[in-house]
Amino acid sequence: MTEIIRTRLLSKNYGNADVLSSVNMSVQRGEIYGFLGPNGAGKSTLMKILLGLVQPTSGEIELFENRLHFDSRDHLKRIGHLIEIPAFYEKLTAIQNLELHTEYMGYYNKHAIREALEMVQLLGVENKPVKQFSLGMRQRLGIARAISTRPELLLLDEPINGLDPEGIHAMRNLFRRLRDEWGITLLISSHVLTEIEQVADKIGVINNGRLIREVSMETVRASTTDYVEITTSDTVLAAFVLEEKLKINNFRKISDHIIRIYDSGITQEALSKGLIMNDVPIESITRRHHTLEEYFFDMIKGGVEHVPSHQARA
Ligand code: ADP
Repeated sequence: MTEIIRTRLLSKNYGNADVLSSVNMSVQRGEIYGFLGPNGAGKSTLMKILLGLVQPTSGEIELFENRLHFDSRDHLKRIGHLIEIPAFYEKLTAIQNLELHTEYMGYYNKHAIREALEMVQLLGVENKPVKQFSLGMRQRLGIARAISTRPELLLLDEPINGLDPEGIHAMRNLFRRLRDEWGITLLISSHVLTEIEQVADKIGVINNGRLIREVSMETVRASTTDYVEITTSDTVLAAFVLEEKLKINNFRKISDHIIRIYDSGITQEALSKGLIMNDVPIESITRRHHTLEEYFFDMIKGGVEHVPSHQARA
């Protein structure tokens, strides 16, 4: 897979405020990248930088495998976006709004406009004035406008925010269809995990301008099943015994006293026995369930850390 977006040490300061700090982001062609972080984390700023609306303070960007220069505009033809609440000519119809936009972009194509409206399920109301549209319809029309020029990459800033359950469902289906049928790469920001966990292929977690981790949803799901938590006064020895003696690799050190083991297939009894026989001081061993929310909360706290024994002993 090729990278469609790659940033290296991308930073943005406003005065003394570090809005983005050394962000290394990687978005692969054809994936839905969920850009997750609390309000004010820096998500919109990064999207605006990609669109040339905000100038970074330092760092590099590659888009479509080419180094981006701040004054270059060529890449913009290949990107569609929905960054703010979309503004339309209220008295004009949906189709007239798209015609104006595509003419302005130098890409007027009647067929592409109808396809875009069909994709977002607004065919049937295309001749109604936009002032009659609900928020959900406006969001979808905003996406139709963004895809009417057939971009390869779509940047969507909080596209699900404020929608009702039916609108959210329609949006998720739309994202999947754009990826699967049109081959579009989507970068979708959200401050709510549940909004994007179902559609994202990969999640990038940002907090206070730092991209904490990029992780595939497959990995996240594997880590959110049951786990066994060991409390011990010697996590270094415990990590060594787990890896070298018991041949368990999928564990993480959570704190100075706690190690979590995921998906090992070993019974709790065999685990206790193995640790005790190797002189690991055990205070407790319990089986727990790690929810998706906990997984990301741990990540934001900086607590999720895999410590292979060779590093733990170093
Ligand atoms: P998010 O999209 O994750 O909610 P933003 O990128 O909008 O976050 O904002 C990140 C931080 O940058 C916020 O603290 C915001 O107040 C600040 N910020 C954004 N734009 C400006 C600006 N033009 N001048 C000063 N601070 C800004």
